[in-house]
Amino acid sequence: MDDCIFCKIISKSIPAEIVYEDDLCLAFKDINPTAPVHLLIVPKTHIESIMDIDESNINDISHILKIIPILAKKFDINNNGFRIINNCGIDAGQTVKHIHFHLLGGRKFGWPAG
Ligand code: 5GP
Ligand code: ZN
Repeated sequence: MDDCIFCKIISKSIPAEIVYEDDLCLAFKDINPTAPVHLLIVPKTHIESIMDIDESNINDISHILKIIPILAKKFDINNNGFRIINNCGIDAGQTVKHIHFHLLGGRKFGWPAG
């Protein structure tokens, strides 16, 4: 996707602080962190949102779930816990239309979500 900022990060045409990469996904630090650990985990395939998950791309998404505990250990937030957030669509405040999972840790989080 030519105009997608996360596709540009994936193709390395714009920089990001990449913390993990494999064939299917990339994880990098959020440019505007809201917690001591704030990573974004994205599939390398351009998928706009959770509403676009289907049989053809579910493996890219389930793979990310497998990577989350690896990153939680790497960033030492596995013991105290962490939060995974996916904002889908307008009401949730999705600003980048390339599906991404926020991995937040290093502080306590309120509930219910704001
Ligand atoms: P959303 O609101 O769509 O769930 O989250 C998008 C996130 O992407 C925001 O937390 C924002 O700070 C982050 N973000 C937007 N543009 C960039 C960028 O160019 N680089 C990085 N590292 N993060 C970005
Ligand atoms: Zn994209």
